[in-house]
Amino acid sequence: MSQAQWTAHEAIERQNSGDISSVELTQAVIERIDAENGRINAYVHVDAPTALSQAEQIDARRHRGEQLGPLAGVPIAIKDVMCVRGGRTTCGSRILQDYVAPYDATAVSRLRSADAVLLGKTNMDEFAMGSSNENSHFGPTRNPHSIDRVPGGSSGGSAAAVAAHAAIAALGSDTGGSVRQPAGYCGIVGLKPSYGRVSRYGLVAYASSLDQIGPLTKDVEDTALLLGVISGHDPRDATSVDIAVPDYREKLQTGVEGLTIGMPEEYFAEGLDSQIAAAVEGAAARLEKAGAKLKQVSLPVAGHADYCVGAYYVVATAEASANLSRFDGVRFGYRAEQATDLQQMYHQSRSKGFGDEVKRRIMLGTYVLSAGYYDAYYLKAQKVRTLIRDDFSRAFEECDLLLGPVAPTTAFAVGEKIDDPLQMYLNDIYTVTANLAGLPGVSVPIAHADDGLPIGAQLLAPAFAEETLLRAAYSIEQMAN
Ligand code: GLN
Repeated sequence: MSQAQWTAHEAIERQNSGDISSVELTQAVIERIDAENGRINAYVHVDAPTALSQAEQIDARRHRGEQLGPLAGVPIAIKDVMCVRGGRTTCGSRILQDYVAPYDATAVSRLRSADAVLLGKTNMDEFAMGSSNENSHFGPTRNPHSIDRVPGGSSGGSAAAVAAHAAIAALGSDTGGSVRQPAGYCGIVGLKPSYGRVSRYGLVAYASSLDQIGPLTKDVEDTALLLGVISGHDPRDATSVDIAVPDYREKLQTGVEGLTIGMPEEYFAEGLDSQIAAAVEGAAARLEKAGAKLKQVSLPVAGHADYCVGAYYVVATAEASANLSRFDGVRFGYRAEQATDLQQMYHQSRSKGFGDEVKRRIMLGTYVLSAGYYDAYYLKAQKVRTLIRDDFSRAFEECDLLLGPVAPTTAFAVGEKIDDPLQMYLNDIYTVTANLAGLPGVSVPIAHADDGLPIGAQLLAPAFAEETLLRAAYSIEQMAN
């Protein structure tokens, strides 16, 4: 087994026992990137010299007997929507292709303080808008399990890199499923934390009331490890909460005895691939055997695509239209050269700088906020959002966690949905609700379909119940192996 295949906790143990240095480990992962990236296009930028010099410094400190951080010497990839000081942060967009971030996102600086090694920036749907990674200005990322399939999106580069062992772990962002769905499609673990758990400072905003940064890893223990590092209050993000960060690894092995797991009946209705339904039901049966109680619950609003996908795409695009107004060719990013007056300069910079999907969403978002349509669309969507939140509150009176699918199908073919935005949006049915309600959710690999593609299950928990969420995810993982 190549060293690049190790999990983070394994890589840390091996370094502690002197089997390998941080430089050797980083070198092994960089070799893997060199071998794989041409095929999968997971990275938009790799900074091997900086990564190796960080690893060298960690080795030197280890040598001197210094106390090292909890991710010492672990090579990690960062979705290109987070600022890393001194490097380009493109958001997968032409408009930011030359933007150099002058500071680190808080999640990134926390990784640095934990002594992680930063490998580079991963490919993504432009401004995190998409479910397939096909909306990147830098070309689509491919699924390492099957090159003609999408890796999911929008953190598809991060998921593909981890699944291909071209990173030990990665960070992504999740506004409507962008960590969980690509993790599911690539056969790895991906967690969206509760809203407020992780600081959004330095994360380029898509939809600020929904965005969260989360880890993508090879196993649940690594997710617990990374979540512990990046979580916590940050005075630079007013929405980050001041709730103590538990040691998420501590209770991982305590099992599911005594937990009630809710199965939303709407999730297993028409539209869900039958192999996925069977795999998720199989995982539920195994949890029951391990001592959990299963209970059928109902999510009358959150379980229906018409309401939840509709509300999500109104709220998300409305916020995006405001957030993306800052990219105007003046303060940030690409500026059209031929314009003769200011109006033309704005117009041409934005027309040429943004891709089609981003433009579609800016127009949609502007429309739902405009006078005369605000009440009919935006206000209505906010009301539906409240109903979705109520659905979950009611369900969590009856159970500790919810179990369901991540997406209606396994990874679809490159090109299959790109010309049909509605089909692409409907793919998000099981993931957008956690963002609308602010809940944590995790995607765990549970099986493979007949064609070999990975199948994931999704667990959801009440806000700030990540410990319970990870405990159950760990049990599922142990039983799936
Ligand atoms: N697929 C969803 C969208 O396109 C979610 C994206 C995300 O979570 N960033 O908006």
